[in-house]
Amino acid sequence: MKKDQRHKGATVRMCSACGLRAPKGEVGFLRIVASKDGTVTVDRDGTAQGRGAYVCKSPACVEKLARSRRLPRLLRASVPEPIYEELRREASSDGK
Ligand SMILES: [Zn+2]
Repeated sequence: MKKDQRHKGATVRMCSACGLRAPKGEVGFLRIVASKDGTVTVDRDGTAQGRGAYVCKSPACVEKLARSRRLPRLLRASVPEPIYEELRREASSDGK
């Protein structure tokens, strides 16, 4: 265990499904963002403004997130089904 995990400047992401924490860039996370007007999008560039949540770029985690219905609470917005479809596509888009 390292004591410098809270070091400023190291942006740590956490998967909303499995709770995995990893520094930005180390693991492929998908970012989901709810803008101020409540529009939810999958943020490919990581630049969208708003309340964001992360999930591992893994079909298993995307599925877990979809089933848990945790995402609407995290984002404080309703998450339409096509968002989950897009996440599923993104999660399985590379590697195989
Ligand atoms: Zn995960």
